[in-house]
Amino acid sequence: MTLSNPPLTPSRSRVFDRPAARFTDDGRLEVRASALGQCRRALWYAATEQEVTNPMTDETKLVLEAGQALEPVVVRAMQRRFWSVTPADPDAPLRVEVEVIPGLTVTGHPDATGAIELFGDERVIEVKTRGPEAFKRWQTLGAERSHPESVAQAACYTLGLYGDFRETVIATLDTGSRRWDYEVIPADRVERAWDRACERLAPLAEHYEVHGADPDALPERDFAGSDWQCQRCSYLNACQPGEAAEVEDEAETEPVDLVSDDDARAALHEYERIQQQLKSLDADKRGALKTLQHWLTGKGEAKARLEGSAKARTVGMVTSCRYSVDHKRLNALLAPEQRAEIVTEQTSEYLRVS
Ligand code: SF4
Repeated sequence: MTLSNPPLTPSRSRVFDRPAARFTDDGRLEVRASALGQCRRALWYAATEQEVTNPMTDETKLVLEAGQALEPVVVRAMQRRFWSVTPADPDAPLRVEVEVIPGLTVTGHPDATGAIELFGDERVIEVKTRGPEAFKRWQTLGAERSHPESVAQAACYTLGLYGDFRETVIATLDTGSRRWDYEVIPADRVERAWDRACERLAPLAEHYEVHGADPDALPERDFAGSDWQCQRCSYLNACQPGEAAEVEDEAETEPVDLVSDDDARAALHEYERIQQQLKSLDADKRGALKTLQHWLTGKGEAKARLEGSAKARTVGMVTSCRYSVDHKRLNALLAPEQRAEIVTEQTSEYLRVS
């Protein structure tokens, strides 16, 4: 493994704008650390320089570039919160290169290194930006469960920078609320993340050894056409043209147009009218409850009976207790497999009007 400054000082975009995988002049297969979670067939398409059939949309590029632009904001927020952080030099970031097995290396540029002031050794800080849902999922489940590729990426940087595994920090900004938080991954779990990444890449190295850089000898697919990885893949039409068409057809045949725009608009107006009524009813209810509370306090009692319009009712103060789990501490204490038995995920679908 080596750590070096690149010989040139290209602009940030040139340094970071590398293919997910490529063959080097000396015949190695080089995978970008930030692409560790990608489909191995997609990495092969990239390395063999096959034509991109499904380019990123302008909207996706915007999200990506906005995320990159916000990374220094996270670093500054950390510095204000007693972190001593050294961010990567955008013009000449440190480059790490780690050999997975002979013939295959992973390379990348750590976002930052640092430590909480006065505590602990310097460590790699991997900076991420996430939308509100992904941020919540990360906070609750921990990075190893929510975004394992980011832990593998940070593990690569840790090994490349320090030559061994040590605690690693994932710092994440919620782009919705603009809050940030961090998670410390213990050294043994950083090592496991790297081992898993190596296990995943090993068959790709074997594939290269057997077939050379042959663009027609494709590795097996890692995902099915309906998976989000395929739907966002730059090579979807090359890899699964039939599947792509099927997904499009499904979308087309869904009975989404049975309600006309006029009917939908009428439903929205009705929804707004009821919302307004509920708001005003809720304010009235809170006012009535406040009056009853003052009446009870004036009597010096915790509970009292009062004649209502249809029957006598009991008015009383109730004490309730809420229990919460400190997910940050839980995530630090337990391995992801143990946490998966304790913190489970249920997804539901609902319509939101905002
Ligand atoms: S379309 Fe899916 S299976 Fe094919 S290369 Fe892309 S991610 Fe992999």
